[in-house]
Amino acid sequence: MSSLTGAGEQRGAEVNDEQRDAPLSDAPVSEAPMPGPDHTAMSDHTTIVIPAQHAAARSSGGGFRKPPFLKPPFLKPPGEWPVQLWPVPKPLAKKVALGTAVAVVAIAAFAGLRQIADAPADPSGGQTTQAGQTSTTPDEAAEGVRRAVAGEAVLQKMVDAVRGESRGEFLKTIDPQAKDFENQARTVYTNLGKLPLATFQLRYVSDDASALTPDRQRELGGTEAWLAQVEVSWQLTGFDTKPARETLPVTFVTRDGTTYAASFSERFLAGQRRPIWALGSIEVVDSDHALVVSLDSHANAEDYASVADRAVDSVSKVWGKTWRQKVVVYLPAKQSQMEYVLGAQQGTYTQIAAVTMAELDMPQAGAPVRIVANPKLFDELGKQGRRIVLTHETTHVASTATASPVPLWLAEGFADYVAFTAVSVQDESAAKELFKAVRAGKVPTRLPPPEAFAASSTELPQAYESGWLACRLIAEREGQSKLVKFYRTVHASKSPTGLADAFRAVLGTTEQEFTADWQKYLKRLAGV
Ligand SMILES: [Zn+2]
Repeated sequence: MSSLTGAGEQRGAEVNDEQRDAPLSDAPVSEAPMPGPDHTAMSDHTTIVIPAQHAAARSSGGGFRKPPFLKPPFLKPPGEWPVQLWPVPKPLAKKVALGTAVAVVAIAAFAGLRQIADAPADPSGGQTTQAGQTSTTPDEAAEGVRRAVAGEAVLQKMVDAVRGESRGEFLKTIDPQAKDFENQARTVYTNLGKLPLATFQLRYVSDDASALTPDRQRELGGTEAWLAQVEVSWQLTGFDTKPARETLPVTFVTRDGTTYAASFSERFLAGQRRPIWALGSIEVVDSDHALVVSLDSHANAEDYASVADRAVDSVSKVWGKTWRQKVVVYLPAKQSQMEYVLGAQQGTYTQIAAVTMAELDMPQAGAPVRIVANPKLFDELGKQGRRIVLTHETTHVASTATASPVPLWLAEGFADYVAFTAVSVQDESAAKELFKAVRAGKVPTRLPPPEAFAASSTELPQAYESGWLACRLIAEREGQSKLVKFYRTVHASKSPTGLADAFRAVLGTTEQEFTADWQKYLKRLAGV
């Protein structure tokens, strides 16, 4: 990762390999405006970063990242998730009404959960092959079934307790000997009560009888202990049309004939995301258009909600109101928490101010989308900067950029176009790097390709600035509504020639002709 070279400049961030095959809906749309020392410098922040693998995932139609530990007979083939193959859990689909979200002050720092957050990813977990999953012998299969039934029963009790708002019943499912985990469980329970849950489900997906080391087995004691992958899903009332869904490793232990949950944090796999409500005590604030879920007790969540409200209004002015007009903003307290929520390698998002991601384990229309802020950078951005970034991200939410065939120059350029329509910024600041290049005789030869938006790209600022000015040229020449129509046409196209078709049908030109016009436009703006 390049280091900061000056205020107002923008940079990308390193991207970890484990994200490279992230599925379509999983691909975060990231922003990397670098914070300046004050608001003036912030007006330079025009660069928006999408990791390269995002583009790759999108252009290839998305890959499927296998949930961990899913081996026959538990394997869920791509496209069939979440078909239930085995075992058959009790239906947990009954809706849970937990009331509306209210502002709740975080009651305690939560040291216990730091252990969850800091648990190292298991480097070999994805490759482990366990008897409980792969065996085909009747005895081993029967053992797997028995564990699944016992584990599922614990999960059912947890869900019932959440539904019945019974902390006592919830805590009865927790291993009485796992004191640290009991503290974590209390916070998880409290957090779930703060969220406006329409549904909350836990489903036993698979287990791994030998995933726990002998030492850990001895530590846990009991007659049996094992690690299972549990699908957790939750839907936010008024915000989600489908549930968010992730897998969580749950350790079970059986003592005196009773099975308990003993951990939610054992052996996280590289790339495995963690629900924000499992990372510490949350504060939840809702407003007209936003739900802010904050792990940061120092952040003013109300303020973020009002900025998000304005962002939604700004986006609707350009994009129209034919979208849900609701955004969910996650405010981690630390960058590491942001990276856990994203399933990213630690240190990946040092230079990324915010990310838009679909909180789902595989591509799906209507996936719940979250804007995840990087606390330190967001703090440094200043008010206008935060507005720019949140408006940019909200544009991605409105236009479902996490699952779109739109090329990155258009997705990012359009998001910047909307953001800079809402917050006016001088061209000289907003296109600083691009103008510098143009004045040095390096006029871009083409619209920025996907790899130019890689977080590690050396020409990242130019890529964003190029996309922005391409969109602005369309709007200036054809009108803003034509720009929106162009975007929507490309987005809706199922054809590999969708972009070319839209250039012709909507703008009456070709990409080649448009590029030539855009080059002239850049020269004119740069004064050369
Ligand atoms: Zn973006």
